[in-house]
Amino acid sequence: MDILTGLVIWAAEAMTLAVLLWSRWFYERERFYLSWGGGFALHGLGVTLLALRGYIPDFVSIEIANTVVFTGVGFWIAGFLQFDGKSVGGFVAIPALIWIAGMFLDPVRESFPNRVVLYNGAAIVGYAILIGILVRNNGPSRSTRRFLAFLIGIQLLANGISAVLAIMRPPVSFASAPNAALLFFPAAFCFIAFVAGTARLLTERSEEKLKALALTDPLTGALNRRGLIDEFHGLCGVQRSDRPLIAMLQFDLDCFKQINDRCGHQAGDAVLVAFSMVGQTSLRGRGSFGRMGGEEFASILRVGDMVEAASIAEAIRLTLKRQTINAGDHQIKVTVSVGIALAVADNADLDLLFTAADRALYTAKECGRDRTAIDTGIEAFIVPAVDRQGEVESPTDLRADRQVVALKQLAALGQR
Ligand code: GH3
Ligand code: MG
Ligand code: MG
Repeated sequence: MDILTGLVIWAAEAMTLAVLLWSRWFYERERFYLSWGGGFALHGLGVTLLALRGYIPDFVSIEIANTVVFTGVGFWIAGFLQFDGKSVGGFVAIPALIWIAGMFLDPVRESFPNRVVLYNGAAIVGYAILIGILVRNNGPSRSTRRFLAFLIGIQLLANGISAVLAIMRPPVSFASAPNAALLFFPAAFCFIAFVAGTARLLTERSEEKLKALALTDPLTGALNRRGLIDEFHGLCGVQRSDRPLIAMLQFDLDCFKQINDRCGHQAGDAVLVAFSMVGQTSLRGRGSFGRMGGEEFASILRVGDMVEAASIAEAIRLTLKRQTINAGDHQIKVTVSVGIALAVADNADLDLLFTAADRALYTAKECGRDRTAIDTGIEAFIVPAVDRQGEVESPTDLRADRQVVALKQLAALGQR
């Protein structure tokens, strides 16, 4: 088999992959499939034109063919950027532009060895960009991405050696180029491994998506019960001497059924979304927040003491209380009751924490709702609140000194 027949087979494989990727796009509508398919189609077309050297005008088989091949490389780069959710910059065209620029230089265009060097140079730049994109991302699939980068690295090295050989022992024509095989075999190996690696990347991405979906509440986008339980186990395992306790905060919106009855189910949903936003924002970077079901939410986090847990619960309760939620024509005010339970992280039991937090929540509801109760193991106490000290309630009254007084009262409770 001569090198030209090999190229034709190669081109046919690239075209087949293009069709496969495009049909995948048809079902999933992810743009990177279009770009990768475009990359393979252009690659196949360019290689076909290269293989037809001697049968078609040289201009088409040299200038055009390689421009098409490098445009294909640009499409691959664009595909990886889209895969990572990044915008596609003009730099994806650099390999093709290097080739085109070289074609304007007579000494390069008219000399086969010089064209080989230019070709390899443009390919090296394209591969270097791809490697950069692959290793820059440190998210999931890190090892698969590194494997892909390694394969491209081999390819890049082969191109480098080929360019050096072209300078040292200038080949006379394409078909008789002694170093053609040097490029062909690593390319064939890398190509197959690269396709397999990319397929793995896609599988890992789907798995990540499914996993996230299985742990997320569809209405609010917060964690669901499963997600929260996973977080609990994750938090228990971490050694943190400054925060030895694990706190479970249970939230239950007050008189929520009335909101549904008065304003409709959709307005009820809007309230759930609004509260979820409050919870997620307040706990960002501090702990996890999720929806247990219905109008019940929970948070799990590491704390140093009871006061810390209570102040976070109170902050969330007061933030919601001060908010007016717009849902269609309705402007809704809503409050929430909170139950807190604590355990030493090393031997925390999830069921016991749930039961204790539930007991505290029941106490909060019993005492009139819109408050936080904390379970101390023996009984549940209502957390002294800054908005219930016999004065007119307004956000400006929530001064720091009053917060401190309330928290001191709580600390005294905890030491009983
Ligand atoms: P309490 O203060 O004692 O907690 O009273 P409540 O009305 O909040 O509690 P109750 O358990 O009586 O009512 C909860 C309501 O939440 C009943 C149910 O219709 C509603 N609900 C549950 N899931 C959803 C949901 O996804 N969307 C909407 N809009 N309502 C929901
Ligand atoms: Mg409830
Ligand atoms: Mg409720």
